[in-house]
Amino acid sequence: MNKGKKLYEGKAKIIYEGPENGTGIQHFKDDATAFNNQKKATVEGKGVLNNRISEHILNNLNQIGIETHLIKRLNMREQLITLCEIFPVEFIVRNIATGSLTKRLGIADGTILKRPLVEFSYKNDDLGDPVVSKEHILEFGWIDSAETLDWIIDKCLRINDFMQGMFRGVGIKLVDFKLEFGRANVKRKILLADEISPDTCRLWDVSSEKKLDKDRFRKDLGNIIQAYQEVARRLGIIHEETNISEVKFGKPKVVNIKKK
Ligand code: 5GP
Repeated sequence: MNKGKKLYEGKAKIIYEGPENGTGIQHFKDDATAFNNQKKATVEGKGVLNNRISEHILNNLNQIGIETHLIKRLNMREQLITLCEIFPVEFIVRNIATGSLTKRLGIADGTILKRPLVEFSYKNDDLGDPVVSKEHILEFGWIDSAETLDWIIDKCLRINDFMQGMFRGVGIKLVDFKLEFGRANVKRKILLADEISPDTCRLWDVSSEKKLDKDRFRKDLGNIIQAYQEVARRLGIIHEETNISEVKFGKPKVVNIKKK
């Protein structure tokens, strides 16, 4: 098989039609963007690491009963997924105040929150993904009902709980992260979609508070790929000795997929 037609191209990923109705292929690019596309660069190897890290986390979430769009990883840069209509809402979960929260509300950077905070932003690049309330989401029909919204919020907290434990076990503080959900095109189930990776989370080393995430790119801290690699190593995804920057990546090949 080869990939079907391109359905969508975002900042860091491309979605192609998959081999069967309702499936897609999610391709991870090396492109990094920040501040609503104003800052752009190519970080060689980032797509490969995010593909592996996201696969690891989504598979683990699946094992605790969170249904996700991931069917399986196909190769270094691609995953077979269930195609979803993504709700135009980003769910941000925060354990420690930093980033836009501190800027918006003047909260001291690094304040530990008493309880995880779930925020919502409307996915709209032209408007800069503004923070919105539950009432906005329901009023404008971005999610169909209050029950669905509450169900998703509950999942966000469960995911936070699980991921905090997973990262804490490898010496990383899960500061905050972004999730996206959607309704499967064919079966209409709500699934966790998109990716969970150092591009979408803030991850700080427990003792040094060194940033191991996309803030290295946003804030020009350097050593981006080394930080992502460190996350992958600690999670046991890549071997201690592997150095992604030294690996030469050819064109991804899709294996074992036949178009019906
Ligand atoms: P903040 O609102 O502080 O900028 O971001 C909160 C968390 O959500 C961070 O972990 C950040 O990486 C993630 N996040 C928020 N919006 C986006 C987005 O549009 N793209 C990505 N990759 N991550 C986001």
